[in-house]
Amino acid sequence: MTECLFCKIVEGKIPATRVHEDETCVGFLDIHPQAPLHALFVPRRHLATVNEATAEDRALLGHLMVTAAKVAKAKGLADAGYRLVLNTNRDAGQTVFHLHLHLLGGRPLGWPPG
Ligand code: 5GP
Ligand code: ZN
Repeated sequence: MTECLFCKIVEGKIPATRVHEDETCVGFLDIHPQAPLHALFVPRRHLATVNEATAEDRALLGHLMVTAAKVAKAKGLADAGYRLVLNTNRDAGQTVFHLHLHLLGGRPLGWPPG
């Protein structure tokens, strides 16, 4: 059995509040939200970081962004704005090594990030 936390969420072995699911990806609320809406979009297929992505993953990565934008629009955030974040490895503070796109919105977000 996989030891990956987000694989377990994808498989339904660990509960999460899902905001989206399809054959390619799953979106669920972050357990420690950093904004009024904080969701994570993960491919069903395990990919540790975007460093491992290849040309064959172009559609998958695009799908994550389009899906996150769809959810942001459905939550009424399109006009006010929101942020999509993909942390990679140590300097970006990645803590879960199953690629995930953060959707943060519902408050003004500072720039540059910390
Ligand atoms: P990273 O820092 O790797 O970009 O983001 C990992 C995110 O996963 C963090 O925002 C963290 O709060 C979230 N997270 C960690 N464990 C769990 C969990 O068990 N369930 C959910 N829903 N989110 C989690
Ligand atoms: Zn995984």
